[in-house]
Amino acid sequence: MEEFLELIKQHRKSLIADRRDFHMYPEVGYKEFRTSRIISEKLKGLNIDVEVGVGQTGVVGLLTGEKVGPTVLLRFDMDALPIKEENTVEYVSQNNGVMHACGHDGHVAIGLCIARIFAPLSHKLKGTIKFVFQPAEEGGAGASAMIEDGVLLDPVPDYAYGMHLWNEKPVGWLGITDGAMMAGNSNWECDVIGDGGHAATPHHLNDPIITASQIVGSLQTVVARNISPIESVVMSVAQIHGGDTNNVIPNRVRLSGTLRYFNDELCVLVQNRMTTIVKNIAESMGCSANIRFVPGYKPVVNDAKHARLIRQIASETSIVDFVSDDIQTTVSEDFSEFLHQISGSYFFVGSANSELGLDYPHHHSRFDIDESALTVGVSVMSSIVSHHLLD
Ligand SMILES: [Zn+2]
Ligand SMILES: [Zn+2]
Repeated sequence: MEEFLELIKQHRKSLIADRRDFHMYPEVGYKEFRTSRIISEKLKGLNIDVEVGVGQTGVVGLLTGEKVGPTVLLRFDMDALPIKEENTVEYVSQNNGVMHACGHDGHVAIGLCIARIFAPLSHKLKGTIKFVFQPAEEGGAGASAMIEDGVLLDPVPDYAYGMHLWNEKPVGWLGITDGAMMAGNSNWECDVIGDGGHAATPHHLNDPIITASQIVGSLQTVVARNISPIESVVMSVAQIHGGDTNNVIPNRVRLSGTLRYFNDELCVLVQNRMTTIVKNIAESMGCSANIRFVPGYKPVVNDAKHARLIRQIASETSIVDFVSDDIQTTVSEDFSEFLHQISGSYFFVGSANSELGLDYPHHHSRFDIDESALTVGVSVMSSIVSHHLLD
């Protein structure tokens, strides 16, 4: 591990410069044209085989060692968010209304730095590094798009690793949990259909507004009464739309919201309870209702063996002060699609520095990181690669 700290020192200038360059020119999901062009040029400059257009704007770099061995996939997401940046730093976003407010600019810079470290070591590598620069993590299912385009084939990865800079924790903190670490999500929509009319004569009507109100209240009992207090599920109603004026009861009310869960079985249980509640309340009120669930990202589930390896690596490095093994978040992330097929692990790298005011949360218009976190990301990822591919 410590040997990489020396190497990273040599590459630190380009690591920071890359991060700031990507920060200045952020691009939202599937529009990462400049980002992927620069990644591809830099990888080619290192004599790494490059494939572009994998999952639209995704880039895959293959660094094949001279000796035979496993293939290690490293994934870095590269999309930004439709947020107007309110920072005043010199590397502030030049793309109006678009901002790297999640840290993916740092992820891309970390990936390129690892490529710079290992490209000159290919004669020593016993296997292959598959660098995966993924588009559209922020809700655009970029991981699935890349998988559909064959990113997990030829060569099939033996292991997959991903990481996220994490501004909820300070630099020096590293978090990795055995099993489920980030929630899966499933959005839902529900139409409550009644028989509207004059609001002054409600006795002639079947009122979908009252019905929807009762459904919203009753849905709150699902997590409270059907899920063990030891488990975690979030069920939120996030939209309610119905009616246009004050003297007409509408025919229809639409509800929608999201579920977050760590366990597929509990997700199905909640969905079944929601369906029963919605249908029966609607029927009891003379209305009808249908509810539809739209599957989102799966939970990020770490293989305990790989999580242990990363905790071991982190505990042996001088730039990690604290290793957490019980972090869980209801945020979702589509690296889960890789972990669903390939054994591996995902971890968080603390990136906040409250003394410098670098502790705004992810997706905030003033989000920024302490760039020394980039070094932690590079060194832990490099040590993982070294564990598998170097003597
Ligand atoms: Zn994000
Ligand atoms: Zn993110």
